[in-house]
Amino acid sequence: MRYRDTIQDLQLHQLKMDDPFKTARKIMNDDLAVKYAIYYAKKNRLKNQGRVAYKDSTKSKFYDAERRFEKKWPLTIKFNNIEEAQKYAKRVCKSKLWGELTQTCGYKNVTIVAKKLVKDPATAGTSWGYKIQLDQTCGFDQYVLLHELAHSAGYMHHDVSYRKVLLRLVSRFMGTDAAKLLKSEIKKAGLKMIIKNIPIKTPLQWLINYNKMIDMRKLIK
Ligand SMILES: [Zn+2]
Repeated sequence: MRYRDTIQDLQLHQLKMDDPFKTARKIMNDDLAVKYAIYYAKKNRLKNQGRVAYKDSTKSKFYDAERRFEKKWPLTIKFNNIEEAQKYAKRVCKSKLWGELTQTCGYKNVTIVAKKLVKDPATAGTSWGYKIQLDQTCGFDQYVLLHELAHSAGYMHHDVSYRKVLLRLVSRFMGTDAAKLLKSEIKKAGLKMIIKNIPIKTPLQWLINYNKMIDMRKLIK
């Protein structure tokens, strides 16, 4: 019955572990359980973010994709003033989807402010998480706001996890056709939409591996 045990073990690792330390502590001592919890947190971060480095290296490619999307999509709602933008953000923040996206990260409510008028603004919007600033000449529209809101949902970069959240917001608030178009432009830019599966060892698998390494070190000595 060795295989059945392994399958159950694998099923466990597909579940999200609420407290990896506690789960590990059942079969190992405190010190090892701490080591396991650190291992779990590192792998989990990698899995969620789909990247190793913190560098936002795909930014310009992503911006190009967005520009093409914005040119092709004619139905983007324009805001006449900051009150309209705030009202729209409130609607997004009240939605079931936003509640789901911000369950473990991000901000439940976001304040929208207008940037002082400047000639040739470099950015359409900025997100500080709890606060979003929009440029009055090029940032007063639904798409720019959704782009910044996706950051405020807890994704302060433009990687795969961010793109997924943005697409869900676009799909919900601009429609599935808009989301399809944006997705195809992102793919055309050579950017990925899928996070490679990163397996995380269960406490048992980790412990077996850890003991193997200790044995090997003993042999080397
Ligand atoms: Zn951005």
